This record gives sequence, C-alpha cells and structure tokens, in this order.
Amino acid sequence: MIVLKFGGTSVKDSYWIDRTIDITNNQIERAPVLVSSAISKVTDKLISIGKSAEENNKNAIFETIETLKKMHFDVAKDFLTGKNLETATEALNGFFQELESFSKGLFMLKECSPKSLDMLVSFGERLSTLLIYHRTIERKIDSELIDARKFIITDDNFKAASPNYDLTNPKIKEYIKPKKGKIIITQGFIASTPEGVTTTLGRGGSDFSATIIGSALDAEEVQIWTDVDGILTTDPRVVPQAKKLETISYSEAAELAFFGAKVVHPYTIYPAVVKHIPVIVKNTKNPDCTGTSIIKQPVEKGIIGIAGKKNLTSINISSYRMLNAYGFLSRIFTVFNKYKTPVDLISTSEVSVSMTIEDTANIDLIEKELEEIGKVTIESNNGTICLVGKNIWKDSSLISKIFETIYPTSVKMISLGASDVNLSMVLNDDEIDDAIIKLHKVFFE
Ligand code: ADP
Ligand code: ASP
Ligand code: MG
Repeated sequence: MIVLKFGGTSVKDSYWIDRTIDITNNQIERAPVLVSSAISKVTDKLISIGKSAEENNKNAIFETIETLKKMHFDVAKDFLTGKNLETATEALNGFFQELESFSKGLFMLKECSPKSLDMLVSFGERLSTLLIYHRTIERKIDSELIDARKFIITDDNFKAASPNYDLTNPKIKEYIKPKKGKIIITQGFIASTPEGVTTTLGRGGSDFSATIIGSALDAEEVQIWTDVDGILTTDPRVVPQAKKLETISYSEAAELAFFGAKVVHPYTIYPAVVKHIPVIVKNTKNPDCTGTSIIKQPVEKGIIGIAGKKNLTSINISSYRMLNAYGFLSRIFTVFNKYKTPVDLISTSEVSVSMTIEDTANIDLIEKELEEIGKVTIESNNGTICLVGKNIWKDSSLISKIFETIYPTSVKMISLGASDVNLSMVLNDDEIDDAIIKLHKVFFE
C-alpha cells in the first residue's frame, strides 16, 4: 500500500481536487490511502473565528462562516450532480450547522481554549475530505471515507498533541484496510484523545498524519504532494534560484524541517525512519517531476541545504551560584517542560545558558520561574539559520567560509556539533533573509 498526502493548495478548488484524485487514481493498483489537509487558507479562517469570539466580534464570526460556506458549496456545485450533490449538500449543511452552533457557544463564552480551538479547526479537514469523497463517487471510483479521529490517538496537549503509538497503530490496522482498486480517504492533522476528544498534531501536521498511517501499515512509500518540486536547497520564497534535491537522508530532512523548512512538518520523519519507509515530496502542479526522495542513505559531506526561522525569542539565564552548578540545567528544563514549551537552540557555558523558543504563550510565567534559578534576560525579534550537511563541524575551512560570507552581520549564538549534520546560529530577525541569500550564493550558485 501507499499513502499520498495532499496539502491545502493541492485541494484548493474543484480543479485541483480533481488533479489530486487523478494522481491517486493513477496509482490505484498500489492500494492508496489519500490523506488531505483542509482547503488552502481554511485553517487560518477557522482560527480567526476563535479570535473573533474572544474579541466579542460577532459580525466577523458570521462573515467568516459565510465565506467558508461559499468556498465549500462552490466546489460541491462545480463537480457534483444529482443525488450525489444532494447527499453532499445535506452533509455540508450538517457540518455548517454544527460549526455555527459551536461558534455561537464560543462567542457567548468569549473564549477559545486550545481544546475548543482544536475542535474548531477540525472542520477544515472534515470538509475537504467530504468533498474529495463525493467527487470520487461522482467519478465512479471505489472509495471509502474514514474519520482520522477514530484511529490517531493522542495525549491531550491540544494544538500540538503527541500520538500514542501503542493505541494508534492497532487502531489504524483495525480501521484502514487498503485494497488495490480502491481509494481510502482520511483527514490529516486531526486526531483524538482515548476519550474521543478532538485534538490536532500542530500546524502543518497533515504530513505527520501521513507517516503515522504509512508506518502502521508498512507502506511501500509515503508521498507528500505540495506546491513545489520537492525539498529545495532553501526556501524558494527567500531565494527563487533554490535548487531541488534529488535525494536527502532522513536525518538531514529532519534537521531542515525542525529548523524551519516548512515543506515537511518536523515530526514527519520519525515514523518513516522506524520502518525505513521512503518519503517522496512531489509537486501536484508538476507531477512528472521526480520530486525529492527522503531515504536512508549515507550522507555525503558538505552543505546540502539552509533553513531559516524567524520570530524567535532568546532567553539567557546566568547562574547566581556560578561554577560547577550541577542541577542547573535540569532545573531550567523542568520549567520549559512544565509550560510545554519546546526549546529550539541551546548553547551553554559554565555559568550561563542561552536558548531560543518559538512559542511565547507562557513567556511571563517562564521568566518568573527562571528568575528563581538565575539572572534572566529575554530578547525578542531573533531568528535562526541552520546549515545542514554531514560533518560541517569537522571542516574548519567550511566554517570560516560561512562566517566570512555573512560578515559583518553579528551572530548572537552558535550551536555546532550537537548533531553531526548541522550548524545553527542566532541572528537578528531582520538579518535572516539577507544572510540566507548570501550563503546560498556562495554554497549553491
Ligand atoms: P502544503 O500546504 O502542501 O503542506 P506548505 O506550505 O506547508 O505546503 O509547504 C510548502 C512550502 O514550503 C513551499 O511552498 C515553500 O514556500 C516552503 N519551503 C520552505 N523551505 C523549503 C525548502 N527547503 N524546500 C521547499 N519548500 C520550502
Ligand atoms: N490544515 C492544517 C494547517 O493549515 C494542517 C496542514 O495543512 O497540514 O496547519
Ligand atoms: Mg504543510
């Protein structure tokens, strides 16, 4: 069997949903499972409903629901007919009634907790897969739509839940029975707790859903269909000349993703590595292009890609007690653990620790607790650049070339050698793009 995951732009309207179905149908003899994201921009619109509820803005809520209705009904009317259109319309009406009453509830309470938000955004993937399913019926393709919340079981860390593989793997096998000649359709991104409460895997999490499913079912391969030709040497929005990588190792892809290459969600790689399943990134708009294969391969020397991340906050903690303060790091990490805040980059000296975080939802509470451990300084508007490549850290001429290239930009922190495939550094946010452009020119053009 194979898993094909389609991102929002691949299902953005009736034309692209048909191309998505074509790509899957062309491989129907490989027993495909189609995993879809919400239609492009829908998740953002659903999140804005939650914000409007908190801000007491009733009009904005109902305008957004009207926009969402139009987007989905337009697609249905475009490519469904007769009884099939009637059934789909009934189902869409049901979803929108549910969304309206849910949004009214949020508005009355003027709140949108992470738990409510996950329920709210789950409508996006449920709506897109409903349309895809009805279109396969219209095209007389054997298919089945299964709600991912039945088989992807997570903890209750809403907005970024972690799968419980012991519960999830058997459920995937119980619910999904891939078959040659049939397309099984399900949602990316959404999941549920063992008690059946809706959760999500974090923004961009549909890629992760695809490898979770692929790994449980021992897929031949997982295909990630998106809007670029594959994994490129850097973000093409920053450097339009970025080049496609033909193959990349699991560890290199994981580092690029973790440090900001949005093309695959950072957690996507792990389930694939466990079973050595190849993950192929391909372009829905250019399906004949070979894409990029993420595979187990010996990594070659040299820099293969550059990733950038912005809007990070740096935190520096200096120990009051100074030398040999063992227990210092563990106390610091206990605080981040308590507030479920992942740390991106870390650099330590004997007396101080610097780190960057992306999620600042609990920054005030974190600061307060860290102040009990040491002197804390916080700086926002920071970003990271990560150069990925085997053994960069062993090649001092490469390292000097990197710093010569970005000179005179000031580097606030460096992390080198923690993994054998990356060199990361912290710069001012507004210097990130410029530094990436310079580095790309020197190493790839
Ligand atoms: P989807 O909706 O299909 O999941 P995303 O928007 O999440 O698509 O990811 C694809 C986008 O990732 C591309 O359009 C590109 O702008 C961005 N991107 C960032 N870094 C890279 C990279 N190294 N290679 C390819 N794309 C990248
Ligand atoms: N629809 C979700 C998002 O926009 C998940 C995904 O696209 O992977 O984040
Ligand atoms: Mg994505």
